[in-house]
Amino acid sequence: MTSPSGRHFLQIPGPSNVPDRILHAIGRPTIDHRGPEFRRLSEEVLTGSRRIFKTSGPVVVFPTSGTGAWEAALMNTLSPGDKILMFETGHFATLWCKMARKFGIEVDFVPTNWRHGVDPQIVEDKLKADSGQAIKSVNIVHNETSTGVTSRVAEVRQAIDNASHPALFMVDTISSLGSVDYRHDEWQIDVTVGCSQKGLMLPPGLGFNAISEKALEASRKNRFIRHFWDWNDMLKANENFFYPSTPCTNLLYGLRESIRMLEEEGLDRVFARHARFGEATRRAVRTWGLEILCEEPKEFSPVLTAVMMPAGKGADALRKVILDAFNMSLGNGLGKVADKVFRIGHLGDLNDLSLIGTLAGVEMGLELGRIEHHKGGVQAAMQYLSESAS
Ligand SMILES: *Cc1c(COP(=O)(O)O)cnc(C)c1O
Repeated sequence: MTSPSGRHFLQIPGPSNVPDRILHAIGRPTIDHRGPEFRRLSEEVLTGSRRIFKTSGPVVVFPTSGTGAWEAALMNTLSPGDKILMFETGHFATLWCKMARKFGIEVDFVPTNWRHGVDPQIVEDKLKADSGQAIKSVNIVHNETSTGVTSRVAEVRQAIDNASHPALFMVDTISSLGSVDYRHDEWQIDVTVGCSQKGLMLPPGLGFNAISEKALEASRKNRFIRHFWDWNDMLKANENFFYPSTPCTNLLYGLRESIRMLEEEGLDRVFARHARFGEATRRAVRTWGLEILCEEPKEFSPVLTAVMMPAGKGADALRKVILDAFNMSLGNGLGKVADKVFRIGHLGDLNDLSLIGTLAGVEMGLELGRIEHHKGGVQAAMQYLSESAS
C-alpha cells in the first residue's frame, strides 16, 4: 500500500471532518481541571453551548459518544415500567428504543417505512387517546442519520400542545445540532440530546443534555438509579464551572473553538449553507437517475443524503471502489437498508469545492463500479452552486 497524497475525504455523516482550527485548539497542553484557567474555559463553553442549543437553561457535558447522552436523558427523567412514545424513523431511533426497552421502559414504537419523519398527526392522536396520561414522554430523532430524513420538531411540539398532554418531549439532535435550525426553549423541549462529532465538527467524545425546568423536576422524583449520568451531581459542580469527575479538557478546548467558529459564521448562515449543500447533492443524485431514500421533500436532510442503489447492486462494493480509487469514505447503509443505500455526508467543515470534490468522487465511482447512471450530476450541482453563490 502506498500512502495516498492529499487529504482523505471523510464524507460520512459523522464523525465529520475536523477543521485545523479545532485540531490546533485540542493540541494545547492539558491543564488542572480544578484550577482558574480551566474555570474560564469551562464557563465559556457552558454558556456558549446554551446559545447553540438556543436555551437559557442548563446544558451538561459528559465524556461520552451520543449513546451515553441518550442513556443520561432516560435515566434522569423516567422510571422502570414507564410508557413512552417513539417513532421508528430509522436505525438511530431503533437503537434508542432498544436501549429504553432494555431498562424496562415500555415503548410504543410507531413503525414507518424509513422514508419519512415523525408524523405529528399520529403524535396528537396517540396522546389524545391516552386519557389516563400514562405516556410519560415522547422521544424523537430530529435528523435520522441512517435515512437522511429530518423530522419537523416544531410541528410535533404543536401536536403535543394540541392534545394538552403533560408528556415530556425529548429530542435527539445528535446529527442536526450546528447544521439544522434547532430551538430548545422556543419548542419547549425537555431534554435535547447532542454530541460532538457531527455538526460541531469535533472528534467523538462529548455528549450533551440540554435540560428544561420540567425535566429537572422529573429528575428529582424519578426512580432509575444512576451515578455517572446523574444530572444533579453534574449541575452542582457546574455551578462553579467544575465537574464531578475529570472532564475531557482537550475536547473542551475544541468545543470552545467550535462555538467561536459557528458564531463567527453566524448560525443562520451555517444552516443556509447546509441546506444549499443538500439541494446541490440532490440535484446531482437526480441527474444520475438514482433514487433518494427520503420521500418527503419537506423532510429532506440538510446534513446527508441517503442514495438508493439500483436493484441487484451493492452499496458497500461501490463504497469500496470509491475508497480505494479516490480516498473518500461514504456512509454505509445501516440496519434495514444495509448495502441498499450509501450516504453522502454534507455537514460540518465543508465548502462548495469540497462538496463538488465529494460528488465527483461519487460520479467517478459509479463509472468505475459499473453502476448504470446518467452523466452530468456534478455539472448540475456546479450549476446550482454557482447560481446560488453569495
Ligand atoms: C451518530 C448518532 C447517534 C449515535 O451516537 P454515537 O456517538 O455513535 O453513540 C445517535 N443518534 C443519531 C441521530 C446519530 O446521528
